[in-house]
Amino acid sequence: MYEEGPGGIELWILRGGVHVLWSSYSHMLFLNRNRRILQQGVDFKQIDLEWDWDNFLILQALVGSMACYVFPFLQDLPLWNMKGVVAAMIQHVGVSEPLYYWMHRKFHEHHFLFTHYHSLHHSSPVPGPFTAGNATLLEHLVLTVVIGIPVLGTSIMGYGSASLVYGYVLTFDFLRCLGHCNVEVVPHETFERFPLLRYLIFTPILSRLMTSLFQRSE
Ligand SMILES: [Zn+2]
Repeated sequence: MYEEGPGGIELWILRGGVHVLWSSYSHMLFLNRNRRILQQGVDFKQIDLEWDWDNFLILQALVGSMACYVFPFLQDLPLWNMKGVVAAMIQHVGVSEPLYYWMHRKFHEHHFLFTHYHSLHHSSPVPGPFTAGNATLLEHLVLTVVIGIPVLGTSIMGYGSASLVYGYVLTFDFLRCLGHCNVEVVPHETFERFPLLRYLIFTPILSRLMTSLFQRSE
């Protein structure tokens, strides 16, 4: 039914669109001036630094296309499968999220990994949605595995769907952009009322804390 598979150009454009729209929002001072975490703007140096923020989209589109050749059933996914949504959520919470957390920790703990790879991501003075995409090839490959596990795992189980591929990948991008947008989108009172939410949403305040911490320790 879905001929082009998850490597389709539509997904690539939508993913870029999510980042561009979040970036526009993070610069709309008339909307978010009072909820900005850092008041300063992005300077030319940072724009140059993050110029190739979209490289990971090209890499993951290529990996997605290769996956379609290796697993031809990915080219013939149904539009929707409810069981697949449940299966993907279980794999996300049980495998992808812990793996993402563990790998991120390793990138900080190991001096070599931090100085040669992850420091680039933390070198942007003002976090923004494009900062989310500004990382090294090794980190992009790790993230490709993290995103790929629920999508491919669910499809191998026979519950895959085109909606799941689009929905999961775009939600992943959406939440990463939210975490890097330098605006307190979800008020901190909400986290005080629902403490568990803290573990589900990576907040811009947390992102800022980590960046300032590592810029100081350099
Ligand atoms: Zn980090």
